[in-house]
Amino acid sequence: MVIKNNPEHDPAGDLKIVDAYMRWALLAAEEVVGKKGMSVVLREAKLERVIDNLPPNELKASGGYSFGEYASLNAALLNFFGRAAKSMVLRIGRLSAKQGIEQQGAMFGIAALIASKVLPFPAQVKLGLEAMRDGFVKVYGASGQKVEIVVEDRGDRIAYLDYGCANCAGKQSDAPMCWIHLGVIQEGLRWQTGKEAEVLQAECRAMGAAACVWEVSKKAKE
Ligand SMILES: [Zn+2]
Repeated sequence: MVIKNNPEHDPAGDLKIVDAYMRWALLAAEEVVGKKGMSVVLREAKLERVIDNLPPNELKASGGYSFGEYASLNAALLNFFGRAAKSMVLRIGRLSAKQGIEQQGAMFGIAALIASKVLPFPAQVKLGLEAMRDGFVKVYGASGQKVEIVVEDRGDRIAYLDYGCANCAGKQSDAPMCWIHLGVIQEGLRWQTGKEAEVLQAECRAMGAAACVWEVSKKAKE
């Protein structure tokens, strides 16, 4: 995978990332790569300032870090891990999601999701992805920012489309690079349904698509 900065300006890169999301990704990354690895990653991502300045654990986009910087963290992790990158970054996404589930239950309508366990798996997936969409729209709306996320039924899969994906904002890549969010979706659905969902990234803004698109199979893994 080759990831570069996009020479064209990507407005999504200017959005302010929610402080807690940046914090969880950084803590999860450190857990996976260790302190030494992390200092290499942060240097490559031009994020050395987080070392003494970890964003607060708050669901506010205070402006401390941008979507572009979140994408740079992701890109540096992918570059750092080489061939093992995908599984490592997936793990970082899943660890980040755990924090989210523990700390922002109300935002993502967790009580309703728990109640959805009686529904068939595809209906649970749809509810879960819609709750994720609504949570992000709400949390960014609270800081005066608009994110455009769509959930749609595509026959045997349910798709989650993000038109301003933080994982790849301002980047160019020769392969889909938003594994962090794939991990977030997997872990969120595992927590919600008790099953392992089959998720793939079908399109990526870093490859020129209008939106990053993840598709979840209506059949859980056996
Ligand atoms: Zn993306």
